Amino acid sequence: MGSKFDVVVIGGGPAGYVAAIRAAQNGLSTACIDAWVGSDGEPSLGGTCLNAGCIPSKALLESSELYHRARHDFGNHGIRLGEVGLDLAAMQARKEAIVSKLCGGIQGLFKANQVSSLAGHGRLLPGNKVQFTPRAGEPQLLEADHVILATGSTPTGLGSLPFDGERVVDSAGALAFAAVPRRLGVIGAGVIGLELGSVWRRLGAEVTLLEAMDRFLFMADGQIAREAERQFRRQGLDIHLGAKVQSGERTAGGVRLRYDDRQGSHELEVDQVIVAVGRRPCTGELLDPLAGVALDERGFISVDDHCRTTAANVWAIGDVVRGPMLAHKGSEEGVMVADLVAGRYGHVNYAVIPSVIYTTPEIAWVGRSEEDLKAAGVAYKAGTFNFAASGRARAMDQAAGLVKVLADAVTDEILGVHICGPMAGELISEAVVAMEFQGTAEDLQRTIHAHPTLAEAVHEAALSVDRRAIHAINR
Ligand code: FAD
Ligand code: NAD
Repeated sequence: MGSKFDVVVIGGGPAGYVAAIRAAQNGLSTACIDAWVGSDGEPSLGGTCLNAGCIPSKALLESSELYHRARHDFGNHGIRLGEVGLDLAAMQARKEAIVSKLCGGIQGLFKANQVSSLAGHGRLLPGNKVQFTPRAGEPQLLEADHVILATGSTPTGLGSLPFDGERVVDSAGALAFAAVPRRLGVIGAGVIGLELGSVWRRLGAEVTLLEAMDRFLFMADGQIAREAERQFRRQGLDIHLGAKVQSGERTAGGVRLRYDDRQGSHELEVDQVIVAVGRRPCTGELLDPLAGVALDERGFISVDDHCRTTAANVWAIGDVVRGPMLAHKGSEEGVMVADLVAGRYGHVNYAVIPSVIYTTPEIAWVGRSEEDLKAAGVAYKAGTFNFAASGRARAMDQAAGLVKVLADAVTDEILGVHICGPMAGELISEAVVAMEFQGTAEDLQRTIHAHPTLAEAVHEAALSVDRRAIHAINR
């Protein structure tokens, strides 16, 4: 391996590995340094997303949902089972196998694209030099025309309740429980709290979520959030809003949490606690102070709209920079930067990034919520359609929830689409494409949707924008 590259990427998560592959596709000699070590003690590409985030959480969400449905819903279909049992070790082993297969797949893609994969730590030095410290061996100096920083994020802890890896865990710990906790506390009813709270609730835990904000899922459209909250409460998730945790202490059998809400002070005894109050950018040890890369006031690497940092030819992408902490957002930034570096066109449309929460029902949205539009004084039209009137949703026995389409009152351009319901994460792609093409509600109305599909609910919601839905009473 030479020590001079066109591009050195630090971080091999969905932002960094995608940037490295695209840079190599563009004909640039590329190295990717990544520090992640898998559960087998070996280097494992894919970052948080593949190793301890998107993929393992979705594997457990799928398994736990099937378990729950087998126990509670199959009877509705006329399927009688004997006793349904849980083999958590097998469920976890399946999850690990998926992770290992996909992480190995990235290694294969690196080989095929001739990306040099370097296992160890990277540190940016002045003058576009990178110090690479391998897992075993002496540090080496690499030179690069361009350096892309993609070191991701790590969980934020609570000073009053430090992680101990046993009773008080972060999301990675909660993905690896070897037994189902009887009483599980979750601090933070955000994306991780709801997804992992759902996993353990379906597997039998009593789950209590303590959320500091007064409004449930404040980042989602209010109508959608209200519907989701109603469904989650029906599933037995015990959600406390406006709950501020004051302290937590280890007891013989678990953890005692003290929290305040509008009703006063409370104590909650649980066996284990997941702290899921957000994540912070990973910049420690990454930047030599003389490298010239500035951080913003929240500790993220400062970048412009094209992910340029304050140092020449140094770029930063993914969770370590501003914007939503989502794998697909980081990957698109990686593609943009690798194309710009190669002298091609590159752009990320930050206004059209979909968000998905993989609970049951799923929650997905793109664009602006009704609250955003009201606050901005934009005149809009809203159309909704309930899955209760969808033949496919009924056939699936998953008819809870709705689709909501928001369009400009004057131009009819689609401004936001919000879904709470089955396969919302898949359905939202249609809205993303429509918005990327600056489509109107009428464009969706005139698009033929196969019958019977869940996507018909998106069609009907678009029709409802102009009070022309066929399978609903237009009010
Ligand atoms: P990371 O994936 O964090 O990768 C950064 C990599 O850089 C890591 O491998 C790290 O070890 C390495 N690194 C750090 N410092 C150095 C260094 N100095 N030298 C070398 N290597 C270094 N997002 C979604 O879009 N959909 C989901 O369903 C989803 N589910 C999630 C579930 C959970 C439980 C969690 C925790 C997150 C989830 N996310 C999801 C968020 C998603 O994982 C992140 O947005 C995404 O991984 C960010 O990608 P990244 O490449 O910026 O950083
Ligand atoms: P989050 O920002 O989604 O939620 C954190 C929640 O904790 C918020 O509701 C916040 O109000 C609450 N909170 C903060 N401090 C608190 C306190 N002291 N007490 C009680 N509640 C408190 O963060 P997260 O759930 O930790 O997820 C981290 C990131 O990972 C998110 O940015 C998310 O985008 C990403 N992620 C995405 C997915 C997905 O796309 N499906 C899944 C998991 C994680």
